[in-house]
Amino acid sequence: MTLKDLANAVVPHLEHDKEYYLNKYPMREGVVTRFAPSPTGFLHTGSLYMALINYKIAHDADGVFYLRIEDTDTKREVEGSIDTIVSMLKEFGIEFQNDPTYAPYKQSERADIYNAFIYDLILNDKAYPDFVTEEELSSIRESQEKNGERIGYYGKYAVGRSLSIDKMIENINSGIPYVVRAKSSGDFNRKFKFKDLLRGEIEFPENDFDTVIRKRDGLPTYHFAHAIDDTLMHTSIVIRGEEWLNSVPVHRDLFYLLGFKMPKYMHISSILKASEDGTHRKLSKRKDPEASVSFLLEKGYPKKGFINYLLVLANSKYENNMTDSYKLDFKNFSINGSTFDILKLDNVCKEYIHSLSVDDLYAEAYDYASKYDKELMDLINRDQNLFKQILSFEHNPQPRKDYAMYSEIKSKIYYFYNDLFDSVEYEELDIDRDLVKKALDLVLESDFNLDGDSWVASLKEASEAIGFAKNKKAKEALGLTYMFGDFMKILRVAICKKNESFSIYDVIKLIGIEEAKERINKYLKK
Ligand code: GLU
Repeated sequence: MTLKDLANAVVPHLEHDKEYYLNKYPMREGVVTRFAPSPTGFLHTGSLYMALINYKIAHDADGVFYLRIEDTDTKREVEGSIDTIVSMLKEFGIEFQNDPTYAPYKQSERADIYNAFIYDLILNDKAYPDFVTEEELSSIRESQEKNGERIGYYGKYAVGRSLSIDKMIENINSGIPYVVRAKSSGDFNRKFKFKDLLRGEIEFPENDFDTVIRKRDGLPTYHFAHAIDDTLMHTSIVIRGEEWLNSVPVHRDLFYLLGFKMPKYMHISSILKASEDGTHRKLSKRKDPEASVSFLLEKGYPKKGFINYLLVLANSKYENNMTDSYKLDFKNFSINGSTFDILKLDNVCKEYIHSLSVDDLYAEAYDYASKYDKELMDLINRDQNLFKQILSFEHNPQPRKDYAMYSEIKSKIYYFYNDLFDSVEYEELDIDRDLVKKALDLVLESDFNLDGDSWVASLKEASEAIGFAKNKKAKEALGLTYMFGDFMKILRVAICKKNESFSIYDVIKLIGIEEAKERINKYLKK
């Protein structure tokens, strides 16, 4: 029996051979990147980050970014997750271009392609079916441990290699389960230099393990599919998580056996999280709510604001120029990983929300409410114009940057709605009661028909006589305890219940002078 018989036994049926596939997919010019998720559940912040960096780097170079679904681990696959990933990417504006020329993009539909190369490797004595059992593998490991040797399937320990072709074919014919392994060409005592676009030159020992390339279930391993797919799809830069860095020797070995040229690589550090003790660990799907993209969307963080924040994490300089024209610079990437900071996320999102037109802000808040927040939706639907007008206060007169996320809106605008106003408690004031009364009487007597600035100026003028200093100098000269700021605080608490509101004049105009007076009187009676 020959290697050809063996190849036929391992791959009994092929639609096309290796040459066909090598010729089928035309070379691509320029930058080609990809996001290659496994459909194992919802989109994590870390995966969105990876997709975004791949997308952005292709986009910056007018290149191609595509999506490949790595669904070769059927046990871990979660139903519906491909749809979730696709729709999330779209929602976040991460557009992928899956040119049909290079299809299929789902690994489970590429079995014939992988088999064509496996067939060829076996034919050329570069791969073999291996029937080694779990028990045999454990006993190999045990003896390696006992002898203080490197653990792994290599050299004399790669026992499956030495089976005769006849025996291999006989085993296959009698239905014994097996994997296919590549026959490593490496020597562990030889080193090679690998260039990572981010990390520079790294030295590795060559791989000498016989790597599994096809599992018992007939599907390829990640390593093999990576070599085949990124070659045939002409990925120019493989941008992936740092956890794959240690697999570089295996990949180099496989590319060599297949006669392929390796693409460029960029291994991205994971997003970190600061622990209470000051150390940093990887953002964890289990421990950190912010690791879940849907959690952040439910909180109402704007999608583009969140994307901006992820770009800041990738390249801190992006913060100074948050525009589409900013190009991610490899030199500015942090190699040790950036730390997720929720306060920073808030600030970046505040900036973003503030940069929207009132119409766009309304549209985004509406979209959020319709998906996640029924109470806010009801509030908007009570009077859409009123809601829009309230939103416009965020934008003027001075930049205020009130909202980091859409779920915060309700808690900042309740006092425009009488029933919500009634449901909130007054903030305590630490000011003499008589003085509070005098201040509010002064407001009741004021001329509300003045424009906002004149009205405030008139109150400032008049309030000094009852004990609120116009400025520091007056405070000292007149020996007063309170400043005009305290006067305004009283007014805000009376009308909004809290010492925090939009311009109180705007508030009064919107709720109406009569309602404002009523609230003041109610507070006076209290
Ligand atoms: N499916 C792999 C993962 O989810 C992809 C890694 C890569 O980008 O090559 O980790």
